[in-house]
Parts: sequence; structure tokens; C-alpha cells
Amino acid sequence: MSHISFSIGGILYLTLLLVVCIIKKVGKSKIENKVYLYLVVVALIGLIIDSTSFLMILTSVDVHNPFYILLSKLMLCYFEAWCFLFLLYMIAVLLRKQNQQKNYSKYKVILFGIIFPILIILNLVLPIEYNVSQNQIYPMGISVVICYLNAVVGIIIMICLLLKNKKYIKDKEFLPLWIVIALSMLTIIIQIICPGIILMTAVEALETFIMYFTIENPDMKLINELNIAKDQADKANQAKSEFLSSMSHEIRTPLNAIVGFSQALLEEDINEEAKEEVKDIVMASNSLLEIVNGILDISKIESGKIEIVNTEYKFKDIFDELVILSKGRLGDKPLEFKYSYDASIPNVLYGDYTRVKQVILNILTNAIKYTKEGYVDFKVSSIIKDDICRLIISVEDTGIGIKQENISKLFSKFERLDLDKNITIEGTGLGLAITKKLVELMNGKIVVQSVYGKGSKFTIAIDQKIIETQVEILEEKKEIKEEKTIDVTGKKILIVDDNKINLKVASRLLQKYNVITEEVESGFLCIDKINSGNKYDLILMDDMMPKMSGIETLKKLKEIESFNIPVIALTANAIAGMREKYINEGFTDYLAKPIDKNELNNIIYKYLNK
Ligand code: ADP
Repeated sequence: MSHISFSIGGILYLTLLLVVCIIKKVGKSKIENKVYLYLVVVALIGLIIDSTSFLMILTSVDVHNPFYILLSKLMLCYFEAWCFLFLLYMIAVLLRKQNQQKNYSKYKVILFGIIFPILIILNLVLPIEYNVSQNQIYPMGISVVICYLNAVVGIIIMICLLLKNKKYIKDKEFLPLWIVIALSMLTIIIQIICPGIILMTAVEALETFIMYFTIENPDMKLINELNIAKDQADKANQAKSEFLSSMSHEIRTPLNAIVGFSQALLEEDINEEAKEEVKDIVMASNSLLEIVNGILDISKIESGKIEIVNTEYKFKDIFDELVILSKGRLGDKPLEFKYSYDASIPNVLYGDYTRVKQVILNILTNAIKYTKEGYVDFKVSSIIKDDICRLIISVEDTGIGIKQENISKLFSKFERLDLDKNITIEGTGLGLAITKKLVELMNGKIVVQSVYGKGSKFTIAIDQKIIETQVEILEEKKEIKEEKTIDVTGKKILIVDDNKINLKVASRLLQKYNVITEEVESGFLCIDKINSGNKYDLILMDDMMPKMSGIETLKKLKEIESFNIPVIALTANAIAGMREKYINEGFTDYLAKPIDKNELNNIIYKYLNK
């Protein structure tokens, strides 16, 4: 009775499985999925034949009844069909892995066009006998032996096939196949030892189930496909980031020459007209640099690579710096720049100094850009709760304003609004997209209020932790914003760069300090100089050099006993996070190309003015 209940249960389950497979269109994707559908159908037919013949025995039908004999022979055919289909399934999986799907029909013809029909004919023609003892009735004879033989040969072929394709064996996809093979082997052994226990149909139904919930599960397949698609997208994104970073490097290198030589020219005694033109060159190069940085920032944010690096900082320093920068950007516009700073803001805060400055500078620059006359009002206040200071930064202008319907588009990348009015104003439409993403990364908020034609007000709220002490540490880190008179006359600086123009730019910018500069074009030459006893006060080292990079050169230098010269990474690899990278690699400090004269001044002051 348990046998019949199992068969009927199995029929119900397999029917359900078949319906699910059809609804989920399992057979429509790959060849093996189609074969799997046949496997389900054949397993179902097997269970139906099995239960029918069992019912006949229960109702005392004689084993010599021709219909019963036919059912027994069909049972053997079913069993062979299932084994063949499973073998074909495995071949289909392997062919897919090897990208050889075109060979599939060849195997199908050999298995189902030639061997299977021969076995069917043998099954039908050869006689079948029955062992009838006590409560057991089971078929035996030559056709049953052929059937078992066929299963054993099939299993051997499957194992050989899997072993031959060793490189895929560790693939998770093959685990269910191994389980099915192991189960089948076990069943055949049990079946040969105790032929009375008819296990075949039950095991094959079970194996068909196992396959559905593992290798054939459409949801798992979907997840697999999604994972593959995700991997591909990640790789593409990675390639994009690498491309952008190398483009940024390539653009920065010639820009270094343009900015460097122009800055040096500005300090020369040239006529006013030429000076104005050189100033324009510097300004144009700076906007080009801003565009490069903007594109890099947005691509880093999108690939989730931007990190918020929190440190202690003085907000007042940022405020002062922003005021100086904004005043510089007013140019000759008839604009009043108002600013106010709430004295209740704690002295030292903990947050991402660079990003806080970047977002405020973005909205300040926009306010100045999009306002012809009137004022720009920059206000910072704070709300303090426990050890958190909520900075409320607002920038209000009397500029062109933003149409209500455009406010929702404001923070989308590459979205520039009101182009008929703005066409002459330089911009990429990236600034606010970056600002919003960065503010959100810092768990802050940005809101905008605007009246078209009258002006706009951007407000940013960011929470920063309050640090009460350690003001002294900051004092040490504080950078100099204005040029100080530095006397470093006669100090020796070694510049290492494979690019001759870059060498010229650096030594040109250093000229005004009355230092002695030496230039070498590779890491090897730099090491030679040190090894032959030359003494320097500072080394400026490019990183991306052929044969031996700056990082490798530095490692070799550090191996030299008593080497203690400060080495500054001077590099066009200037995306965010690079400073930390170079400092971690052992560089004393970092200077981005194009070289900013104030930054260079800071470095000289910090390392030579001792
Ligand atoms: P960009 O200024 O480089 O074009 P942004 O992302 O900074 O890009 O700004 C997107 C658009 O939003 C600008 O093109 C401009 O139309 C509008 N906008 C931004 N700030 C202001 C402002 N203060 N006043 C008026 N319009 C603004």
C-alpha cells in the first residue's frame, strides 16, 4: 500500500512541478531546460505505469495477462528513456559550458535516433519473466538484465564525462548532477542485490525533484543570471573608472605645463596686457581641471567608491577659506558678498573636511555664477544637541532664480536649466548632482527655495561630531593660506619625473625660492644620485614612471641606510583618496599636478623652512 501511496503522491507532485515549469517557461531558455521538461514528463509517465501495474496486481490480475506484460515492458522502456534523457541533459550542460551547443543535435541523434530505438525493440521482442514469491512480484530475464546493464554503462559514461571536464567539476552547478549519479548508483546496487524492492521509479521521481530545486530552479537561475549580469556590470564600471582615472592623468599632465608656466609668467615682469591674458589662461585651465574633477567625482560616487574620511577640523578655517575663494570669484561683477558666522559653532568638529568644503563651495560658486547684480549672502549657524553640531549653511542670492518646474531636475547629473539665459555661463550640470550625493553620504540634507527672476536660497544641513579638545594637534596640521616669506635660499631639491616638460615646470616654479634644483628622468637615476653620496633637502617624485614607479623607487630609497630625505609624491594621479594612498605608501607628503603655487608654497614652508 505504501508503494501505491508514494506513486500517487509522486504523480501529484510531478504534475504540479510540470505545471510550475510550464508557467515559469522553464523549457524556453536553454537546451538543457527543454531536456529537463522531458525528464519530468517521462518520470510522470513512469509513475503512472508503475501505479497502474501495481493496482493490477492488487486486483489479482495474473502476471501472464498480456496487458500486464506490456506494462512491464513499457516500464523498462521508461527507465531507459529517463537514463538517456539524464545523460543528454548532462551533455547539454557540458556543451553549454564549452560553448559547443551546435554539437547537441549530434548527441541527440546518437542517443535517441539510434541506440534508444534498438533498446526499445529489444525490450519489446525479448521475453520477460516474473519472480512470484511470497508477497513479491518482480520482473526478471534478459530484458531486465539489458536494462540494468544500460543503466550501469550510462552511469560510467556520465562519470567519465564529468571527469574529462575536470575544470568545471568544482562548479556548484555540477553538485546536483553528482548527487543524482550517486543516488542512481546506489539504487542499481540495491536493485541488483534485492530485486524485490522496486525502487527505480521512486528514485527517479525524487531525482527529478532534486534537480528542480537545485540546478533547474528558475529562481536560482534568475539569481545566477543576475549575478553574472552584475559581475559584468561591475567589470564595465571598473573599466570606466580606470578609463576616467587614466584620462584624468593624461589631461592633468599637459595642464601641468599650461598652469605651471602661466603661474610662473605671472610673477615675471611682463606688460599688463600680457598679464591679463596669462590670467585668462590660468582661469581657463582651472575650469578645465574642475570639469575633469567633476567627472571623476560623479563616476566614483556612482560606483560607490567615494568614501567619507572623517578627521578633526576647525570649521572656521573652512569658512575663512571659502570667503577668500568666493571673493576671488566675484571678479568685477557689481555684487555684494555678505557673510556671517555664528559664534556658537564649536571650535573643533569631526567630519570630512574636504567634502564639507566641496559642497559649500559648489553652492557658493553657483550663486556667484548665476547672479548678475545684487548680493550673495553666505550664512552659517548651528544647532547643538549633546555632542552633535548640526551645521546649517545657507547661500542666498538675488540671481536669475529657478523655475518651479525645474527644481526637481536641479540635482540630476548633466542637467543644465534655463539654457537660453545660461548659455554664456560655463558649467557641466554636474556640480549639484555631486553636491546632493555627497551631502547624503554625510547623512545631511540640501533644500532649495527659489523665485524665478528674483533669486534662490540653497540650505545644507550636516551633522558633525563635536570635539572639545585637541585643538593643538590641529594647529600643527594647519595649512598656510597666504604666501609667507620663506628663506630657503641654497636648499637642494631633486625632481624625479620621466616627462621632461614636467621637470621643467617644477624647476621653473621653484626658481623664485632661490633653491638649487636637480632633475632626473627615472627612479634608477634618483637612486644612483643618492648612492653616490649626493645630499638633498627634499625630493619631489612622480609616481607613474616606466620600468620603476615612484612607489618602487621610494621603497628602494628607504632600503639605503641613513636615508632620511622627505620625499613628496608629485603626481597627476589626483583623484580623491590619493593623498592617503601615497602617504600610506611611505611618502612624506603629496602634491597634485597641475601644481598649485599655494600648495607648493605650503610644502616648501613645511619641509625646507627649518
Ligand atoms: P552647472 O552650474 O555646472 O551647470 P550645477 O549642477 O551646479 O551645474 O547646476 C545645475 C543647474 O542648476 C545650472 O545649470 C543652473 O541652471 C541651475 N542653478 C544652480 N544654482 C543656481 C542658482 N544659484 N541660481 C540659479 N540657477 C541655478
